[in-house]
Amino acid sequence: MSDIAASPPVFGQLVGQQHAVDVLTRAASAAADIVERTGPGTSMTHAWLFVGPPGSGRSTAARAFAQALQCPHGGCGTCTACHTVKVGTHADVHVVTPEGLSISVREMREIVRVSAFQPSGGRWQIVIIEDADRLTEGASNALLKAIEEPSPHTVFLLCAPTTHPDDVSVTVRSRCRVVSLRTPPVDAVAQVLRSRDGIDAEMALWAARAAQGHIGRAKRLATDEVARSRRQTVLSLPLRLTSMAGCLQAAEQLVESAEAEAKAISESLDEPEREALSQSLGAGGTGKGAGTAGRGMAGQLKELERRQKTRATRVQRDALDRALVDLTGFYRDVLLIQVGSQVELSHADHREQASEVAELVSQDWILRALDAIVATRQTLEENVKPRVALAALMTSLRLPAR
Ligand SMILES: [Zn+2]
Repeated sequence: MSDIAASPPVFGQLVGQQHAVDVLTRAASAAADIVERTGPGTSMTHAWLFVGPPGSGRSTAARAFAQALQCPHGGCGTCTACHTVKVGTHADVHVVTPEGLSISVREMREIVRVSAFQPSGGRWQIVIIEDADRLTEGASNALLKAIEEPSPHTVFLLCAPTTHPDDVSVTVRSRCRVVSLRTPPVDAVAQVLRSRDGIDAEMALWAARAAQGHIGRAKRLATDEVARSRRQTVLSLPLRLTSMAGCLQAAEQLVESAEAEAKAISESLDEPEREALSQSLGAGGTGKGAGTAGRGMAGQLKELERRQKTRATRVQRDALDRALVDLTGFYRDVLLIQVGSQVELSHADHREQASEVAELVSQDWILRALDAIVATRQTLEENVKPRVALAALMTSLRLPAR
């Protein structure tokens, strides 16, 4: 059984990740042996950590693995188990997606408690933690305890970016089997956009390249006019950074655009959530217990508002980060042009602008610019005010006078 030739269909979602697919295929097969008691019964690894750069598909990999573990056919992709895991309604798969900036101790304790139950479907209890790097120390400790003494049928699937390996506590990390994902090659991303999303070949290739291997971003660029125009704006900035005023203006523009994006997304989510909560708490109810519900409601609404506020912060920060990723691609293009490399540019449609910058700056200048962008992305993660961080960055990207 453990020597199966083909990987399960659900792993087709893992783009350009053959190594991870091999590891997970073997593990899923061994897990099936345990459940069905047909094989040698080797023990199951109860904690997995999926690491990889943004866009490499960490949570997709975790979900696909959960599908393979819960599916009676080992991950067919079509049965009820596969489907419910995919849409997030499987009774024995708990997904933790922190909408705020961290996962609280209370939330983690609750998850750990539930994860120890017998799985209702008789296979595994699976907990997916999408941003394990955002665990507070307390939450991390609560999780560690569960990982160190796991119930025989519980599996934890943690996801975290590779860029900050220290963010997942060393102890948690040491208890996990690590699955490393890589940035998928442009061709593989384009292929997915064509076959999965029905995007035409030319657009798929352009978007895959512009997104620098980030699958979700590539799909967005291929399908969303607003996303394309935001990218356009960002890539027009470097040439405008010729004066102090120009730099500050560019910073302000980036922040305002991120704020607008966050506002649009928040508005579309906040009100329906508030509505749904009111309904579920029986707002306006007159029956027995309506009074109690009313008192609890104020607290729950407050809690919801707090979550919505942190989510808005997160969304805004993500929007800024995307802009910085676009800029990274641009300055990398500048470097490629300057050294005369034949490698495909990330933003081939901005070759002219990149060439213009390449004539103005030295190689050292470009490397410093790239470093400054990386540093700013980290600063933003650490809660520094976006306006302050961006003003400093844009100033450091100011072009030398001709
Ligand atoms: Zn299935």
